[in-house]
Amino acid sequence: MVILSLFLTAGLYSQAERYTAARENMVATQIIARGIADREIIKSMEKVPRHRFVPAGYEDEAYGDYPLPIGYGQTISQPYIVAYMTEAVKPSAKKKVLEIGTGSGYQAAVLAGIVDTVYTIEIIEALAGEATERFKMLGYKNIIVRSGDGYNGWIEHAPFDIIVVTAAAEVIPKPLIDQLAEGGRMIIPVGSQYGAQVLKLVIKKLGKTEIRDLLPVRFVPFRRQ
Ligand code: SAH
Repeated sequence: MVILSLFLTAGLYSQAERYTAARENMVATQIIARGIADREIIKSMEKVPRHRFVPAGYEDEAYGDYPLPIGYGQTISQPYIVAYMTEAVKPSAKKKVLEIGTGSGYQAAVLAGIVDTVYTIEIIEALAGEATERFKMLGYKNIIVRSGDGYNGWIEHAPFDIIVVTAAAEVIPKPLIDQLAEGGRMIIPVGSQYGAQVLKLVIKKLGKTEIRDLLPVRFVPFRRQ
């Protein structure tokens, strides 16, 4: 009887409803419960279908409290880290964002639900291609993807109000600091590939650059072409 009713309950919900429930649970237990309070970020993470950003076969793990492999030795970041980095750069409606390290496109999609435009650069051409397809399929019109080395930023669209780097650099690339707008904020993991890394927040104020250490982290390395 118990088994039968469980079976019936499972059958009552569609796959889509199960993903929505998993996403709501992720936002409640991993994002809000850990102190992320920005309503726009919460709303955006409630909307972005993270299970569409992971490789086939990983959909049921998409809302877990950990990063997942996306192929080519790269990963989609843990949901909390995405939320934390997003909150640190204070996104809002009119802002222009540069992301280095498109990967799956998940971080870009979370930002795109809040800001005006997201420019994103991915060094692995195949991942850049997959993300472009994914954005098209999901209807994101304000994300522009380019394949290449993001070290030099994207001068044609600079300056940026926000820069988000999702691969760990040994030092903060100078061109990225240069392309940050007055009052702009950049978040970037800094450290060696195998050693300690720390998330740093860079704020440009009256031409001066202030750098704060936020959180120890573990990211894939920032590569050079
Ligand atoms: N933001 C991604 C996280 C991807 S992991 C997501 O939400 O899924 C970091 C990505 O940075 C990897 O895909 C890696 O290939 C890319 N990367 C590393 N060095 C880079 C560089 N110099 N320029 C652009 N992308 C880079």
